[in-house]
Order: sequence, then structure tokens, then C-alpha cells
Amino acid sequence: MLLGPPGAGKGTQAQIIAGQLGVPAISTGDIFRANVSGKTELGLAAKSYMDAGDLVPDEVTVAMVKDRLAEADAKAGFLLDGFPRTIAQAEQLRSSLHDLGHALDRVLELVVDEDELVRRLSTRWVEVDGQRVQREDDKPETVRHRLQVYREQTAPLSGFYDSEGLLARIDAIGTVDEVTERALGALGQDGAEGSEQPGGPTGQPSAG
Ligand code: ADP
Repeated sequence: MLLGPPGAGKGTQAQIIAGQLGVPAISTGDIFRANVSGKTELGLAAKSYMDAGDLVPDEVTVAMVKDRLAEADAKAGFLLDGFPRTIAQAEQLRSSLHDLGHALDRVLELVVDEDELVRRLSTRWVEVDGQRVQREDDKPETVRHRLQVYREQTAPLSGFYDSEGLLARIDAIGTVDEVTERALGALGQDGAEGSEQPGGPTGQPSAG
């Protein structure tokens, strides 16, 4: 599972790492956005929260993830991106995984300081129908609010998973390739099982 504030690069790294591991990347943000574009009932339920930079209520999110984890391609493993985002979601995830005979193997926290996050998000452009646009929730006021929501509701997951011995923190500043290399190192996928990155952050993430 990938943990980290908005703008830390979870989506980018999730695609690459999941490809390397041969498992699906499951991003709750992407699933919500696809539902908003498709104007589904789930999309309608989520849209106002997303546009405001608030979390979609846990019961909506947890039910959606449960369905996704029950799909065939998730049987042999998966990488979670953007879920869980609250302690309540983490507890529900643990029990859903238990029912499926699974458990989280590792939680990788991408650490980036808040100035860099604001800079990245306010200059981020995404492609929608071939056009480069700014995400509604990447507007400056909404970015500040999302960072506050992260600090208050999601950052506590760092301690939660640390106490379970699952957490690895990596420095997520650098090129995409550098961050991938650190991530795979922390996952023991580069031949260096369990290695800590020299020079990586050791203290609390500055965004949380
Ligand atoms: P980012 O990490 O850049 O904030 P995401 O794509 O992960 O972007 O999420 C975008 C929005 O989708 C969030 O601000 C929130 O409204 C909603 N969302 C995504 N994942 C969750 C979750 N696990 N719980 C509640 N809301 C979520």
C-alpha cells in the first residue's frame, strides 16, 4: 500500500511498481474520477466531496474497495494507492483482507515537504479527452485544504502501520526513476531485502 500526501507521486509510482510486481494498482482516486466522468450513482455521491478536497465518506469508499478487491485480478495480490486514508478505513481494510485470506505485506510512505507539494500540485496538468486541464481539486485553496485533511485524517496512518511493523518511509524528492529505485529497495525488490536508503528521511514526514 502506498501512503503519502497529495502530490507525493503515489499515482505515478503505483503504476510503475505494480507493473514491476505484476499486480494491479488500485487507486480509489482514479476509480472515483472514472465514476464522476461516467456520471454513475457512485460518481454523483463522491463529486461534491472531491471538488471541495474533502474525503468521500468512509462507508461509500470502503464498499467500493471491497468490491474491487473481490475481482479476479486482485486474487494474487494488488497495490493500493490512496486507500486507506483514515484509521477507520484501515481497520475495515484489515478485516476485509482477513476475510479474503490476505493481509498487507508492506506500507510505503512517500515523504515530501509541504512547500514542494504545493508547488507540484499547483503546476500539475492532467489530460482529459486529449486536452491538458487542471484538476478541479488542484486549485490553490483546495490544495491547501487537501493538505490539511491529509495532516488531520491520513497522516496518523503512518504511526498506525509503523506500530504494526509494516511501514517503510522513503524520500520522494528526486526524479521518478530515483524514487522508484528507493521504493523497490524498501520492498526488497532490488536484491537488497529490507535495506534502508542511506540519506533517506528518518524522522516524521514533514507533511504530517
Ligand atoms: P490526491 O492523492 O492527489 O489527493 P486522489 O486521486 O488519491 O488524489 O484523491 C482525489 C480525491 O478522491 C480525494 O481528495 C477524495 O475526495 C477522494 N478519495 C480518494 N481516495 C479516498 C479515500 N480512501 N477515502 C475518501 N476519499 C477518497
